[in-house]
Parts: sequence; structure tokens; C-alpha cells
Amino acid sequence: MAVFPIRVFGDPVLRTPAEPVEEFSSAYERLIEDMLETMYEAPGVGLAAPQIGISKQIFVADVGDGPFVMFNPEIVETSDSWAFDEGCLSVPGYFWEIERPGFARARGYDINGDAIEVSGDELMGRVLQHEIDHLNGMLLLERLPRRTKKQALRELREAALRSTGP
Ligand SMILES: [Zn+2]
Repeated sequence: MAVFPIRVFGDPVLRTPAEPVEEFSSAYERLIEDMLETMYEAPGVGLAAPQIGISKQIFVADVGDGPFVMFNPEIVETSDSWAFDEGCLSVPGYFWEIERPGFARARGYDINGDAIEVSGDELMGRVLQHEIDHLNGMLLLERLPRRTKKQALRELREAALRSTGP
């Protein structure tokens, strides 16, 4: 198994909608293992393939009841509302209170190409929405109110400039 470097804010792969997986095969087993290891090492509760530079509709997650993977997932139902201090491995060190639906249901496929459904509220609902946003090329910043987003983007750009030098 291997731990991948995690792509961070500013990397265009994070803004690119990921390609659906057309052929399911055991060739993905290794990738899934590596994604899980990368996620646990970070540590995080979810990781989408674009975050390691692979623009495919795959994410892994573990909110405490064991790991799972979804291919080509989409949100099919949401309800309620929940404010939560949300962070992202691709925007390390930042947390924002973001309000989203509390419950979410997602449909997708497992590694064999069999249809699966995953649903939950609170952290599970949040992870499903957050990871599927990644697969649509969207970071959590897009979920911030306009004024907070503007300020967050300014801070992130300044931090990026500092880290790369003048
Ligand atoms: Zn994220």
C-alpha cells in the first residue's frame, strides 16, 4: 500500500469534474487500498480520487463504522439542516461552519459494479455531500456564504503566496 500526497487548494484537478468509471475491475482494488491508507494517515474521514490527482468518480470514507467506497455516486435525497465545522484535507488547517442538509442518501456502485445506496445523517450525511462535491469539481469554499467565501479565498491566496515566496 502507499500513501499519496494530497492535492491542495489551487490545484486545477480539484476544480475539474471527475470522469465516471465505465469499467469496473479488480484493478481498482489497489487504488482503493491506497486511498484508504492516505485517508487514515492524513487523518480524515473521507477522500475523493481527485484529491490524489486521479480525476475519476471514486471516493472512500470511514466515519467510524468501517471503510466503504462508492463509484459514480450521486445524491438522490436530502432533508433537514445541520451546521457543522467542516474542514477538507485539500484545504488543510481551515474549518468553517457550513450549513447543509443533515440527512443525505447517495446512490452509486461498488467495486464490482453492483448498485449500492448509502445514507445517514450528521457526519455520514456531511461526508457523502462533501465527497460528491469533490467529484463535481467543487470545494467546500463554494458552500460558504458569499462574504465568508471572499474572505476565505483572500486568506488562502495570501497563504499560498507566502509558502511559494515572492
Ligand atoms: Zn475535502
